[in-house]
Amino acid sequence: MTRREEIADGLERTRARINAACAAAGRPAEEVELIVVTKYFPASDVAILAELGVGDVAENKHQEAQAKAAECADLALRWHYVGALQSNKAAAVARYADAVHSVDRAKLVKKLAAGAADRPAPLDVLLQVSLDPPGREGRAGADPADLSALSARVAEEDTLRLRGLMAVAPLAEDPSAAFDRLSEIRADFLSRYPEASWLSAGMSGDLEAAIAHGATHVRVGTAVLGSRPAVK
Ligand SMILES: *Cc1c(COP(=O)(O)O)cnc(C)c1O
Repeated sequence: MTRREEIADGLERTRARINAACAAAGRPAEEVELIVVTKYFPASDVAILAELGVGDVAENKHQEAQAKAAECADLALRWHYVGALQSNKAAAVARYADAVHSVDRAKLVKKLAAGAADRPAPLDVLLQVSLDPPGREGRAGADPADLSALSARVAEEDTLRLRGLMAVAPLAEDPSAAFDRLSEIRADFLSRYPEASWLSAGMSGDLEAAIAHGATHVRVGTAVLGSRPAVK
């Protein structure tokens, strides 16, 4: 199989899973956007994805994302930044990303807003909410109790557009239980920000559970592109 055939196959299987999960949840398939996570994969794979009709790709490390977005600038893709974000990199990320899913603390907001100032349109921002138990080591995402203050902070910035929430299911738990909590957190959030209706949740292993709980954007790497190459 050529690389193109491999990717086409992964893409077809993933789209079939998304369609089946939408059907099972009684949701129209158009409600769920596939974002292909291209981290560690070469720009040549991104070009194949674009040829195969993918419009949205995601990266999780600033340096790799910046280089790949520049290399693929002619492909008219939307770039999603989904990784941990250092505040000294936030302004740079805002210059090439079309959406940042991992905003989890107020300190990032001002820097993203400044970096987004030269963009033709506001930068799409999602707040990453932690589904881990409070106080857990290495926990990414805002505490659900802090979402309200963080949303208000983003809403103050003209160069940012609050789009919704993002979460990663904790490894140690059944994803359905975690996404169940997420849908409660989201219902509360939507009562204050009804326009911010994106829910970025679900990866290769748990996209069905995420779609059953209202995900509008799934972030899928392995199921489309195969096992990730070793870290460079
Ligand atoms: C890598 C990554 C994904 C994709 O994970 P797969 O299991 O390969 O589908 C999704 N979301 C985030 C935040 C990631 O870092």
